[in-house]
Amino acid sequence: MTVTVTREAWELLLAGVPALTLRNPWAHYVAHHGKNIENRTWAPPVALRWLLIHAGTAWDRVPHPMRPAGPMTAPHTSAIVALTEVVGVCEPTTMRHRRCRCGPWAMPGDGIYHWQLGTVIALPTPVPTRGWLKLWHPQPPLVTDVAGQLALADLNPGKVQ
Ligand SMILES: [Zn+2]
Repeated sequence: MTVTVTREAWELLLAGVPALTLRNPWAHYVAHHGKNIENRTWAPPVALRWLLIHAGTAWDRVPHPMRPAGPMTAPHTSAIVALTEVVGVCEPTTMRHRRCRCGPWAMPGDGIYHWQLGTVIALPTPVPTRGWLKLWHPQPPLVTDVAGQLALADLNPGKVQ
C-alpha cells in the first residue's frame, strides 16, 4: 500500500518540530543506516515527539564499530536530511546504562542521555541550510521545502534501511 501525505499536510505536521544538528557521519547514519540512538549530554524536552535531523559541516572521524561496511554514499553536509520520531530517553545513571537496552549505537558513560529514535523518514533530496547549537526551529520557507521533500519520501512502513 502506498501512503501519500501532501506537502500541505506535512507543513502542518511540522509546526513546532525542532531540528538538531549532528556531525556526519552520524546524521547520515540516522537517515540511512539505522542509527536509532542519539547520544547527548542533555535530555530532550519532555514533549519532544518529532525531530528534524540536520547534518552539520563538521566530520567526526572517531571510529565506531557500527560503521557500515563497504562504500557509503557521500553524506550530505549542511542540510536537513531526515525527520525522526523520538520515542524515549534513557537517563545517564551508570547502573541503568550498564543494563540499558538501547543497543550498539548507545554510548555508555555518565552524563550521556540516549535519545531513542523510532520511525525515520529520509528526505529524498536533503534541504540545504546552516545548523545551530541545541534544538533550533526552522523558519517557514525552510519548513515548506522540507515538507515538499517529505511529500516525496518513501513512507513504506516496516522498511528497513
Ligand atoms: Zn540507554
